[in-house]
Amino acid sequence: MKCDVCRKGEIRTRSRQTYRYKECGLDNVYLLNLEFRVCDACGMKVPRLKKMPELHATIARAVAMQPCPLRGQDIRFLRKQLGYSAKEWATLLRTNASTLSRWENNQQEIGPQSDTLIRLLYFRIRDEKEGTLSKESVATAAAAVSTGCFLDLCVNMNNPSVYSYKLRTPRGTGDLVLT
Ligand SMILES: [Zn+2]
Repeated sequence: MKCDVCRKGEIRTRSRQTYRYKECGLDNVYLLNLEFRVCDACGMKVPRLKKMPELHATIARAVAMQPCPLRGQDIRFLRKQLGYSAKEWATLLRTNASTLSRWENNQQEIGPQSDTLIRLLYFRIRDEKEGTLSKESVATAAAAVSTGCFLDLCVNMNNPSVYSYKLRTPRGTGDLVLT
């Protein structure tokens, strides 16, 4: 297949790649065993993202269960995963939209009780919408959150319903490792 960017190169498929999935709005999500389409002439690389609803649901569970405090980008991701506007989500959290905005933009510390409330509400609302009960022990996980831990969230695309955490290395895993 010819590349439709440069119209010169051949498109090849490369499997088992690691990809930093920044497009989801989080800077610490890595997809493992992802397939890429790569042009051998212009260097164009396109990830083949499949099963997106399942992938995003998995990332959301990983975010809500993480043993580190929620960051602004985590709070925004969970809100968007539930499909709420800032105003709707602020109402459910018994706060106002400007406070929520400051949380999401890292301009205000969220505090442990609001951190816990967001995690619990995320799972509760998800369960109500799906009509199924999540198996995660979110209350225990939220109570065990400790400060100063930095994790990467990894999803192996061979099984996008499972996540794992990896301690972030100082130099990071890099944006994209083509092997
Ligand atoms: Zn090309």
